[in-house]
Amino acid sequence: MDVGVIGLGRMGRGMAASLVRAGHRVRVWNRSPAGVEGLEGVVPVATAAEAFAGDAAITMLADDAALRAVIVAGGLLDGGTCPGLHLSMSTISVALAQDLAAIHARAGVPYVAAPVFGRPDVAAMGKLNIVAAGDPAAVARAQPLLDAMGARTWAFGSEPHRANAVKLAGNFMLISAIEAMGEAAALVEGHGVTGGDLLDLLTNTLFASPVYKNYGALIADHRYEPPGFALKLGAKDIGLALDAAGAAGVSMPFADVLHDTLIAAMDHGDADKDLAALAEVARRRSRTV
Ligand code: NAP
Repeated sequence: MDVGVIGLGRMGRGMAASLVRAGHRVRVWNRSPAGVEGLEGVVPVATAAEAFAGDAAITMLADDAALRAVIVAGGLLDGGTCPGLHLSMSTISVALAQDLAAIHARAGVPYVAAPVFGRPDVAAMGKLNIVAAGDPAAVARAQPLLDAMGARTWAFGSEPHRANAVKLAGNFMLISAIEAMGEAAALVEGHGVTGGDLLDLLTNTLFASPVYKNYGALIADHRYEPPGFALKLGAKDIGLALDAAGAAGVSMPFADVLHDTLIAAMDHGDADKDLAALAEVARRRSRTV
């Protein structure tokens, strides 16, 4: 297929490479030209509008503000050439997903929400787990692209924003796991056991799953740079989960706690470190008692 990719950050670069490997023709645009440097087999284009064309366009931008700036304020749907469909793969708010679905419907461009689970190394291997929702015919047309980027596509019906609600719920669980590991490590360290030894035991037994193993290893080694998933993006996601909960009248008291802890981490200067650095908040707080 002829596809444009907008947003060549840590995730978008690996996704574009997976598309090239699968034989798709890939046009790429990134706000900073450096984002497209060193990517083989792609065709860099000068404007977002040139990437927002062809059989499909994929966006993998940081957040709501970036999507609003590029797609809405950038006027990409206001006439001109539009893509056969828009695969919106960033982690964005449920509210923006609803707005974008309406704006695309008015412009006659099928809008598919397809946020992902998996860090940049998983994106580079084309093994993401992709949560897709939108018009079934558009999802079916996008399937060769989804197959190139993902190990599996998980379908959540025809309302795009539902995929975003699923993604936010998943990141809430992921960040809860990191907070739990950070507090548990601080507990044993207070009693002369290394956090690494605790996490080695638990992530190879009761908690032998990808999130615990991958983030547990980073926490055990205090290895937070370079970031795979920036802590500030995790803070964004907990804020979005709380907004989505508010809109649905759902109480998420633990998400409030995580939000406070993430802000403490950012106040400490860790916004651009890996999300695993959240675990250091409990360690720092313990040292002050
Ligand atoms: P990233 O490395 O920080 O890349 C962000 C991208 O957004 C860059 O291309 C950046 O362009 C662009 N951008 C930011 N603000 C912009 C604006 N106002 N206008 C135009 N472009 C803008 O982030 P990432 O880790 O790839 O994450 C991308 C999305 O995937 C996020 O929604 C994140 O929550 C989600 N996600 C990330 C992971 C992970 O492990 N990293 C996993 C699953 C989902 P510049 O290069 O010019 O700054």
